[in-house]
Amino acid sequence: MEKILEVKDLHVTFSTYGGTVKAVRGVNFHLNKGETLAIVGESGCGKSVTSNAVMRLIPNPPGKISNGQILFKGKDLTQVSEKAMRSIRGVDISMIFQDPMTALNPTLTIGTQLIEGLKEHHKTSSKDAKQKALEMMRLVGIPNPDERLKQYPHQFSGGMRQRIVIAIALICEPELLIADEPTTALDVTIQAQILELFEKIQEQTGVSIILITHDLGVVAKIADRIAVMYAGKIVEVGTRREIFYNPEHPYTQGLLKSVPRLDLMGARLTPIDGTPPDLFSPPQGCPFTARCPFAMEVCDKVYPNPTAISDSHKVDCWLQDERAKQLLATTASK
Ligand code: SF4
Ligand code: MG
Repeated sequence: MEKILEVKDLHVTFSTYGGTVKAVRGVNFHLNKGETLAIVGESGCGKSVTSNAVMRLIPNPPGKISNGQILFKGKDLTQVSEKAMRSIRGVDISMIFQDPMTALNPTLTIGTQLIEGLKEHHKTSSKDAKQKALEMMRLVGIPNPDERLKQYPHQFSGGMRQRIVIAIALICEPELLIADEPTTALDVTIQAQILELFEKIQEQTGVSIILITHDLGVVAKIADRIAVMYAGKIVEVGTRREIFYNPEHPYTQGLLKSVPRLDLMGARLTPIDGTPPDLFSPPQGCPFTARCPFAMEVCDKVYPNPTAISDSHKVDCWLQDERAKQLLATTASK
């Protein structure tokens, strides 16, 4: 499978008066062409920082990509100029944020906002641009596109506005779409419709998608693979099946217990007790130690090696780390 994106040992820091926040601490992942990868974790785990880094949208200062590579179709985005990055953003890689209202300009018609990007990046005639805008409106399921193009954002419902934001993100036919909590501001029914829309768009355009969310339930249907982030690290990655049916990391297991399930109607949701560690001085060992029901002595001292459960499934946990057996053997022989 062709990899469209490969992130290697990414570190992102933010300098503050209180010290340096290590927001992303050695993240590795890849995205195959045409697939959807979900990055899941609690707020503050570094998932948005990771996706902003891919777009090179980390404000510097105070932020900095302090190490790592972001290979987009083989080209390291950490090394390209800001000018080159501007022609990649919105054209090769597009991003959608949580709140559709702030993403749209209230003073411009939907038509103008759709066409803006096309005219800026491609030399498209007004007639062709309008055709393309109509085509995108249809793709995202907005009825009467001819009429609707002349209207302003406030004339649309929240769900329709998010459809428009998606249409704007897709009009230049990007190869990679990053959606950061794209359904969080919407009610449950509209959420489901927007997720279905992502699936349909992917089928029709082949776009690769990174979906950032705090809610594993959101990705249950549409993610091909899932990366679970905790305290600036990806602690487990696997196919959707592997993560939902065979989660190995205690944090992933905890997240799954807090997802409402239709087959367990009425069952109590169990939130994970405690809070993530402070990222000014993250623990050198496993950052989940303080909250983990299985924590062992070694856990907060040494970070576990990433261990392969299958070709696609990897976990950072001492329960799976081969060295744990050796450690136990040495302790037993004493
Ligand atoms: Fe729990 Fe230890 Fe695994 Fe961390 S490494 S998740 S503390 S068992
Ligand atoms: Mg976020």
